[in-house]
Amino acid sequence: MPYCRECGAKIIYDRNTRSYVCPGCGLIYTPQDLIADARRGIEAGLEAEEKKRRKYAEYLEWWTSSKK
Ligand SMILES: [Zn+2]
Repeated sequence: MPYCRECGAKIIYDRNTRSYVCPGCGLIYTPQDLIADARRGIEAGLEAEEKKRRKYAEYLEWWTSSKK
């Protein structure tokens, strides 16, 4: 189950409204919201990975060039 983006509580599915509700702060999520959130999270994670990799590559480049 996903977690609330506001308070971090576990979101529960409400059969009556067919939406996801946060028991912590009462925020309501539609399934589309959750999919969009998950996609954003994955993209943000990939971007962070890529940034890390680029930084390391830059560092390596700097390190090898400074050793010359
Ligand atoms: Zn919440």
